[in-house]
Amino acid sequence: MYKYETHLHTSQGSACGASTGAEMARAHKEKGYTGIFITDHFFNGNSAVDRSLPWKEKIELFCKGYEDAKAEGDKIGLDVFFGLEYGVKAAEFLMYNIDKQFLLDCEDFDKWHPKKAFDAVHEAGGFIIHAHPFRERDYIDHIKLYPRHVDGVEAVNGAHFDHLEFNDRAKVYAMMYELPITAGSDTHSVNCMYGSGVETEEKILTPLDYLRQIKEGRLTLRESTM
Ligand SMILES: [Zn+2]
Ligand SMILES: [Zn+2]
Repeated sequence: MYKYETHLHTSQGSACGASTGAEMARAHKEKGYTGIFITDHFFNGNSAVDRSLPWKEKIELFCKGYEDAKAEGDKIGLDVFFGLEYGVKAAEFLMYNIDKQFLLDCEDFDKWHPKKAFDAVHEAGGFIIHAHPFRERDYIDHIKLYPRHVDGVEAVNGAHFDHLEFNDRAKVYAMMYELPITAGSDTHSVNCMYGSGVETEEKILTPLDYLRQIKEGRLTLRESTM
């Protein structure tokens, strides 16, 4: 089996992140992961990037956590994929199979109408997973769902180890709309790794391999080990 982390943050891209991309890569290699997806908070979430900078500069800074993790991953034998976490008034959406060029081409992507942003990701060949749709925390004003605009639901969020009912509700939501489900840790620090993610029998070579296996229901979802 191959093990992947699908949802994680770096201190370079996320204001709430406590470890660099390189540190994250090493820590996940040590824990036996085959690969990781870096999903830093975009500018409409808890981004570490100064929003007053010009667009190109912001994108360069945003991608640093991923690039750092990728460089380290190439050295130590860990597959590192790009993604991001897009905020819609604290509802959060993991976007995959897009890249730096996509972001450079989509100026002010963080301020677009959510449906326009979701459509642009799909038109570019990307896909969207609704992260922790039923999380309840102070920073979340209300629960927002876009069942017709996402490709799947994060039904196991490792950071919910103390609130498993949030994950249970996400599973019911996915079932109601026949959306496939996946799992991720939402790790922000190497000192607090939730140990969640997915296991696959087939190696993930590109983010689209991950999407296909989500849709085929072939992933083993790993609950948090905390
Ligand atoms: Zn965060
Ligand atoms: Zn996250």
